[in-house]
Amino acid sequence: MIFIMDTKPWLTCLQQNGYRLTATRKAVVEIIAQTENALNPLEVYEQARRRTRGLGLVTVYRTLEKLEETGLIQRVHQPGGCNAYLPSAHGHQHLIICQQCGHAEYFEGDDMQGLFEQVANQHGFHIREHWLQLFGTCRDCQKN
Ligand SMILES: [Zn+2]
Ligand SMILES: [Zn+2]
Repeated sequence: MIFIMDTKPWLTCLQQNGYRLTATRKAVVEIIAQTENALNPLEVYEQARRRTRGLGLVTVYRTLEKLEETGLIQRVHQPGGCNAYLPSAHGHQHLIICQQCGHAEYFEGDDMQGLFEQVANQHGFHIREHWLQLFGTCRDCQKN
């Protein structure tokens, strides 16, 4: 797992970007910074609500927006189409995500340069970037 447990750098980053940190916003940051599962805004809300009083869904959306803007979290695709978020990877990483519980891990390395070149040639493209996300069932969910 490469997810960050210390939220201080996140809070500092947000403050430097002019984001005023209230207790409710902090709760949202803590949930999403420490999650190992991709969470949609409603799930963040449910979890953060247990830590703080008076949290509104709008605060969740705004805070997630700000975190995405500053690059601390990234949006992930979900088969259902609903947006979910995860702490951003450090550098170039790929994502494997459980379709049942949302458990996510980043992995490095891809041996697909050959495939990319083939696709690029076929379509006359010059490939600059790629974004790879694998879906599946995690170890725990396979047992159930
Ligand atoms: Zn799972
Ligand atoms: Zn790659």
